[in-house]
Amino acid sequence: MTQGVRLTGRERAGTPGAIMGAARARKTRAAVRHATSCLYLVTALGCGTMWRPVATRPPAPSVPAGVDPEALDRSVDPCTDFYDFACGGWAARTSIPPDRPAWSRSFSEITERNLAILRESLEADAAGHFEPGDEEARKLGDFYATCMDEEKAETSSAETLRQEFARIDAITNRESLARTVAALHLRGVTALFAFRAQQDLRDATEMIGAADQGGLGLPERDYYLKRDAKSVELRRRYDEHVGRMLELTGESHRAAAKHARTVMRIETALARGSMPVVERRDPYKVYHRIDREGLGREAPVFPWNVYFVELGYPGITAINVAVPGFFAQLNQVLATTRIADLRTYLRWQLLHASARALGSRFVDEDFRFTAVLTGTERLLPRWKRCVGATDQVLGEALGKPFVRKTFALADRARARTMIEAIERSFDANLAGLSWMDAETRARALEKAAQIANKIGFPDRWRDYETLEIDRTSYLANLIRGAIFESRRQLDKIGRPVDRTEWLITPPTVNAYYNPSLNEIVFPAGILQPPFFMAAAPDAANYGAIGMVMGHELTHGFDDQGRKFDGHGNLRDWWTPAVAEAFTQRAACLVRQFDAYVAVGDQHVNGKLTLGENIADQGGLKLAYAAYRGTRGSATITAQTGTFTAEQQFFISFAQSWCTKRRPDLERLLANVDPHSPPRDRVNGAIANLEALAVAFSCPAGSPMAPPTRCAVW
Ligand SMILES: [Zn+2]
Repeated sequence: MTQGVRLTGRERAGTPGAIMGAARARKTRAAVRHATSCLYLVTALGCGTMWRPVATRPPAPSVPAGVDPEALDRSVDPCTDFYDFACGGWAARTSIPPDRPAWSRSFSEITERNLAILRESLEADAAGHFEPGDEEARKLGDFYATCMDEEKAETSSAETLRQEFARIDAITNRESLARTVAALHLRGVTALFAFRAQQDLRDATEMIGAADQGGLGLPERDYYLKRDAKSVELRRRYDEHVGRMLELTGESHRAAAKHARTVMRIETALARGSMPVVERRDPYKVYHRIDREGLGREAPVFPWNVYFVELGYPGITAINVAVPGFFAQLNQVLATTRIADLRTYLRWQLLHASARALGSRFVDEDFRFTAVLTGTERLLPRWKRCVGATDQVLGEALGKPFVRKTFALADRARARTMIEAIERSFDANLAGLSWMDAETRARALEKAAQIANKIGFPDRWRDYETLEIDRTSYLANLIRGAIFESRRQLDKIGRPVDRTEWLITPPTVNAYYNPSLNEIVFPAGILQPPFFMAAAPDAANYGAIGMVMGHELTHGFDDQGRKFDGHGNLRDWWTPAVAEAFTQRAACLVRQFDAYVAVGDQHVNGKLTLGENIADQGGLKLAYAAYRGTRGSATITAQTGTFTAEQQFFISFAQSWCTKRRPDLERLLANVDPHSPPRDRVNGAIANLEALAVAFSCPAGSPMAPPTRCAVW
């Protein structure tokens, strides 16, 4: 890569591919989060041959672009609570659908539209309405149709599960345990620990193995360890849930209850060895190139050679052992737990990962516990679950018709123009930062210039040719999809890095920055109204998607991203004084967000959300500067009511974050989500920007024009 030259994905050489485990969504998203900074956490438990899109623009959905007067609450003073001013009207007439844990004016509305488009395409495929010989359409149709077949879930999937259980039941010693753990890992079940491929953090040109903590059934380690009444109650409900699920597989009530306690004991021990989520934000803390030898030293009782042979990669030696202490703890667990108890634990892990593909009693019980965590009242309709599952297993095949229907080349060009304007704003802003020195500033400019932009859809689509899908068993299709994905991932080890790959699928309503590739990625799924519309006024586009673009760019310079250089290598390129100034400025944001209340007595975690808050802060500032830049010295007439162009920019921003969440979900997210609640994302970022106070003539000292402001970038 040439320094100082911005390369796009298209201009780079690479091999075909993309990512995404076919395991459960929650695990896949966790894996994505590990390496990247997504814009938004989509659900409660987690961040989807050359081909051309249409040359003309598809019909636009009937969503207002720019300020939505109906969403406003004009009784609220914008200088007191900007979020309530922008979203109060929307909130008053919007209720969360019973089958959703939250509802947002942008993410959820777009997701629903995208789901409907994908469904139409999948139902046509399932009915055989595709060109003869179109193997991808055939696979999409077969996968979706088998998922939709409830009868087969009761019969064929149950039979598949029985066969999978038989492998676990045959474990008699540590060797057969290691073989079975490898088989489960290939199936996307993260039993005991996780193993995947990753770019070496210090040498981003090299693909190595990564052994990491894992093996839990609850969302995060703290769920097992916290002693407050809520956590104790959640653990009781989880224990009960594990017992009920095991009972459904044919165990007696008594045996299942006993086995649930065994599961709880093993998972709690694994949780004790796990690194807390805030600590994991520091890439240095999850980087230990002690390789296979070091892994063997940490956990000598596990037969690693047997494991790697069964995995199909006996020669792997280059391994990042992300959390060595976890493997020492795993060793302890394996040394002190009876084989029969480990079989019980593995049965649960497999069952937990397979529940959604089984009969209705399993699906209902699985949902019952999801409801405990998120407060959701009703299970999503089957077709929505099946569209989601197809997106996970065949996402880039499903993405093609989606892009064709929703995204035009003109959209890509427009989005690219906006990103480039925001990149220019970043450079200009950098020149004026008082806390920078010349040396660090030059390196920051160099890194910014090396950021690659991916917009809409991959230039090189994933090849699903070797993935077998048929109409026999839904669970068998999921397992084949998971194995296909695991092999695709692990095959990368020792090969050149694929710079064309996408970590989420084109229909996904999200965006991300990936520090190891130093790239920002915006799928067609989010380049939709109200975030983006090629024909919308600049104030609307820059306020909504422009802020998102600036957000992702700023991730390259947040508390995590700043530790990587323009080539994606973990390397300190900061002079000590500037690094110290950064830390001081970041500490201001930590204090600001620590003070916000997420729900009840639970505060936002300023350290956990620091990277996202830095990105929001920088993103809004850059988008505003880029928007001002598009106007030059011309005056733009207000187009909506009495709002000036600047006011429209800020309202468009805030209205793209109008959200309602159930309290249980709010509590869950406060524990695991690196993003602050939408209200605080909006008001927190806005209060820090003087331009808002100017645009709305806010008196000094009002909540949106505080006497002291936090600013990193
Ligand atoms: Zn983000």
